[in-house]
Amino acid sequence: MIKIPFGKPMINHLEKDAVMKVMDGSILVHGPISTQFENKFASFTGAPNAVSVSSCTAGMHLIYFALGYGPGDEVIVPAQTHVATAHAVELTGAKPVFVDCEENTGNINIDAIEAAINEKTKAIAIVHYLGVPVDMPQVVQIARKYNIFLLEDCALAPGAKVNGIHVGLHGDAGVFSFYPVKHLTTAEGGMIILRDNELSQKLKLLKAFGVDRSYGERKIPGVYDTIDLGFNYRMSEIHAAIGNIQIDKLPGFLIKRKNNFNTLKNNLENFDGFRVLPQPSGKHLDSCHYCLGVLLEKNIISKRSQIINLLAEQGVGSSVYYPQPVPRMKYYKDKYGYNEEKYKNASYMSDGMIALPVGPHLDIKDMETIAEALKTCINKVV
Ligand SMILES: *Cc1c(COP(=O)(O)O)cnc(C)c1O
Repeated sequence: MIKIPFGKPMINHLEKDAVMKVMDGSILVHGPISTQFENKFASFTGAPNAVSVSSCTAGMHLIYFALGYGPGDEVIVPAQTHVATAHAVELTGAKPVFVDCEENTGNINIDAIEAAINEKTKAIAIVHYLGVPVDMPQVVQIARKYNIFLLEDCALAPGAKVNGIHVGLHGDAGVFSFYPVKHLTTAEGGMIILRDNELSQKLKLLKAFGVDRSYGERKIPGVYDTIDLGFNYRMSEIHAAIGNIQIDKLPGFLIKRKNNFNTLKNNLENFDGFRVLPQPSGKHLDSCHYCLGVLLEKNIISKRSQIINLLAEQGVGSSVYYPQPVPRMKYYKDKYGYNEEKYKNASYMSDGMIALPVGPHLDIKDMETIAEALKTCINKVV
């Protein structure tokens, strides 16, 4: 039985009460609660604008759609990420062009970005892999040089900062996920932050059918016009009510994550068979510790499944981020072909890493248990 799960939503009476309050009222969507959550998220990150959406995937798709991308356009996407980062591009008809990650952190190899840019390139998407921020000033410089949009997939990065500025505010937009195992949850949900007021207004319009007025602003009930093509990518009041409580808890979650991470890291030092994925090397980069990634040495990556199963037998849950480099996933491989040589680091990361939990549902004692279990399991298979 798993005694130390990889992730566990931290829901208590506060979230339950907030949800019940919404259920007792008559406004389930387009209401004040999602606006309140947007405001709280904006103030947590320091963002001038925040737009709630139904998921991180929806948020990224909405941005590309609003920017008018389509067939013939290209967007640079890290090979080592959740498939959503690529799907958001693919859904518009544009083509994701994959760039390998660097070996140390799993973040996009910044030095390889420029070689992937051509006259079709409309945007660069980066991912703050496992909450370790990408060194943004370097990427911003490239995006500005070619005058292309810069999107930050911040799904695993609330609380991460570069030069003291929250991730998502270095590029042109940042998108967050509130899926259950992420830093904070609304069950399903996402948030876009951005500086550009005009684009923010457009996103608000297009996430709600392109209808000119939101529900509460209609002069005559039921009467509205549609001025653009859009989706229904809104967040409901019920989901936002959970988020409103979770965002208040987030600073506490982040402290627990950091303490757990550091304890686990210390307990794993000087051990053969794997290395701990480095945290950011520069002082100007602050991680938000999504998990602790260990990368097995190449000669034992074939034993990974065995190690993961043995860990589970000892009650320790783990995960893999992400199970395949995106260009190697069937849909993308079939469509665009796959050249392993081009994505060596991303493949190694996918095939050799084990993500260990450091979430706020766990404490220091659990970290000691995880470290001991990992050492025992590796000793058993090598
Ligand atoms: C989880 C995740 C997503 C998807 O988020 P949803 O809210 O489920 O759409 C996107 N990108 C990254 C990097 C993720 O980890």
